[in-house]
Amino acid sequence: MNERELERRARVAQLLLRAARTLGETVDPDRIYDRFHDLLAELVLHDGVLVSSYDNTDGLIRCDYAWSDGTRLDISVFPPVPLNREGEGMQSRVIVSGEPLLFNDVAEVVQRPGGTYYDVDREGNVRKLPESGPPGSSAAMMVPVKHEGRVVGVVQVMANSGSYTLEQLELVDGIVQQMAAAVRNARLQREQRRLEAAEAAARAVAAEREQAAFVLDLVGDGIFLVDEAGIVRLWNRAAAQVTELSAEDVCGSALTDAIPEWPTLVERIPISQHGQSTRSVTLPVAVGEHDLWLSFVAVRGDGGTVYAFRDLTSERRLDDEKSDMISTISHELRTPMAAVYGAARTLLEREDELTWEQRRQMLEMVAEQATRLSEITEAVLLATQLDRNTLSVETEPVDLGELARSTVEAMKAHLPPTTDMDVNVAPDVGTASGARDRIQQVLVNLIDNAVKYGGHTPVRVRVEPANGHIRVVVADSGPGIPQAEQSRIFEKFYRAGPELTRAAGGTGLGLYISRELVQRMGGRLDVQSEPGAGAAFVVELPSAEADVAAQLWRLSS
Ligand code: ADP
Repeated sequence: MNERELERRARVAQLLLRAARTLGETVDPDRIYDRFHDLLAELVLHDGVLVSSYDNTDGLIRCDYAWSDGTRLDISVFPPVPLNREGEGMQSRVIVSGEPLLFNDVAEVVQRPGGTYYDVDREGNVRKLPESGPPGSSAAMMVPVKHEGRVVGVVQVMANSGSYTLEQLELVDGIVQQMAAAVRNARLQREQRRLEAAEAAARAVAAEREQAAFVLDLVGDGIFLVDEAGIVRLWNRAAAQVTELSAEDVCGSALTDAIPEWPTLVERIPISQHGQSTRSVTLPVAVGEHDLWLSFVAVRGDGGTVYAFRDLTSERRLDDEKSDMISTISHELRTPMAAVYGAARTLLEREDELTWEQRRQMLEMVAEQATRLSEITEAVLLATQLDRNTLSVETEPVDLGELARSTVEAMKAHLPPTTDMDVNVAPDVGTASGARDRIQQVLVNLIDNAVKYGGHTPVRVRVEPANGHIRVVVADSGPGIPQAEQSRIFEKFYRAGPELTRAAGGTGLGLYISRELVQRMGGRLDVQSEPGAGAAFVVELPSAEADVAAQLWRLSS
């Protein structure tokens, strides 16, 4: 190798090193092209440069950078051209062969058939060659850009006059590969930044969703989303709590599976569109075992309709109780008050006409009705105390057999002698734990009901042991209580059957008070009844022995 050649190689190496440094300094592909062009200008005289890329998935060649006659051109003026597989166009030939080309006779080359040639002037005007006249260039170099052994683009350098040498071609090839590597790197970095940004955005959206779901679960109102096909897509925690249907059970299925009457309900719920305000409606909804009163509002959105609801069941029950109370109490008070008023007026206005006996009867009636009035107010007060939990019930050992007997005897004294009533106490029944007066109050109420509603059938009172408890059963053989009413008769102010209500006076508080009292003594009160076959009210109280054992257990543990 001669000295000149050595010197040349050293220059090439130096140049490539500088190219690598300059091109690697930026990660903006546009700036890389400009720097590449500056480097190129130091090497070869030229009037035009084109950098294009080849995509083998669609077989198209696209222009990435163009410079002509001192100006950088807008690349959108170059239409993508398909690769000519026969390799007859100049770019296509380089892509297909993977070899660089050097022409010093461009005017002649473009005359050859089969290829597509364009010439571009400094204004970016593209003209097809050779139809639109001879090309502006006389010499051209074409260098393939390779990546992992495949041709991924071509760089063309053109001169309007003069010619290029193989040595220049070699130099240009060197910086073209450097430029291509820098562009690839820049594109990779840009892609990575884009992916990172997309990932960050996706993470932000996910976090927002999570936050929204969290908030939805925290709100006290039930919220659910029903899509256009009627399928539940969201069911928040409050919705699950109120309805006792879990999100897993409801989501993904038609809402009618959970709430069969939904189609009729939904017609009554006004749905707000486009953010207008709307009013709420309160509707009775049967969900599984429960009868609920739910107040709904609804908003239509993109993914379906969002319903929010509030459980007003207890408020509604309270309202019902209030109106029941007012109607029962006023009805119950009216009768004795009218009687007292009538008697008082008669005594005042016609005292002289009345016999001593008539006067006594009237005064007795006044006293009786006054007792009834005070009983009613007592019952209301007691129910209020039980509601507010301000009643304390002290327990002691109580002989239930003796208590049942004496209560029946005392009641018989006030009832017609024809009333058939007896007490049966099992032997060795033991003592119960409870408050004697309160147990008596319960028994009086149950016996009184059996007489009032039992249709003059015999009333049987039984006292017997029952598995650590002592049981008192008050049974009649009257009309009994329909299944549907059996739990309701223990509600405050509830009175079954209107004909009964009218026939026998009452406040509907007796069984409510009785059950509450028995429960406060650690026992229970239930009813067993087959309609037509009488009713048996069963009181169970803890036996005093068992209660002492339980207390000892509690103290020692
Ligand atoms: P009241 O007797 O003041 O109506 P209660 O709470 O004692 O209130 O009773 C509630 C309802 O239960 C009564 O109105 C009646 O309809 C029903 N009931 C209670 N005992 C019997 C019974 N032995 N047989 C049939 N129905 C009964």
